[in-house]
Amino acid sequence: MYIFANWKMYLDFDESCILMSQLMAENFDIDAQLGIFPSTLAFSEIEKLARDTQWGIGAQNVAWVEKGAYTGAVSAHLFKEVGAQYAMVGHSERRHIFGEKNEDTQKKMQACLDVGLVPVLCIGETQEDKENDKRQYRLKRQLHEALQGLDLQEESFLVAYEPVWAIGSGTPCTDTDAEDVAGWIKSELKDTFNLANIAVLYGGSVDSKNVLSYTTQPSIDGVLVGGASAKFDTFSALIRAVAKG
Ligand code: PEP
Repeated sequence: MYIFANWKMYLDFDESCILMSQLMAENFDIDAQLGIFPSTLAFSEIEKLARDTQWGIGAQNVAWVEKGAYTGAVSAHLFKEVGAQYAMVGHSERRHIFGEKNEDTQKKMQACLDVGLVPVLCIGETQEDKENDKRQYRLKRQLHEALQGLDLQEESFLVAYEPVWAIGSGTPCTDTDAEDVAGWIKSELKDTFNLANIAVLYGGSVDSKNVLSYTTQPSIDGVLVGGASAKFDTFSALIRAVAKG
């Protein structure tokens, strides 16, 4: 079971450290891989606070080149060097605000795998895709184009199904729908890439009240949480909801 927190650009340095310290002070008594994806500026401090605990730390985004003249970029290699375990690739905000394409996600996947970071490949259809019955078409392209040409091993990456219309909207995907998509992603990975052990997470307006409806689905291996992860009360309630089962 994975519970991953995408802090996006919600928290400044001090707020990030305070929230992480509060989380570290709790005993959640949960058999899960907990993860934080902090801002790049807070990354090293959060990593220090989480070292040798059940919390893994990840980058929200990576550049695919290793080093060089790439103003403003931070590579998978540089994140790995400061203790990152995971990296999100292709988050919907990267795709829709910053214009990231499937071919970029492929290079970022490669860069992460090359340095031993576990990428979390985020895929999801827009409202327009959904209305035009193009969900499967969109997900298939995002999945296949991100993975093409890579030397993929079992458990070397994760997939997060995050419908764009569900992110930050307060309107999550229904649990049965998310389960159907997670099952479909798993069958695509098996049939096309011969991978049977890739975890699939659901993300999009997950909170303490609805989280169990996702984590109890057979094809869903965890959740990626944005808004509800950026405050101690809402995030600790969510973790406790899963722990109590
Ligand atoms: C996200 O952006 O990854 C996300 C799941 O956000 P939220 O939980 O706020 O919908």
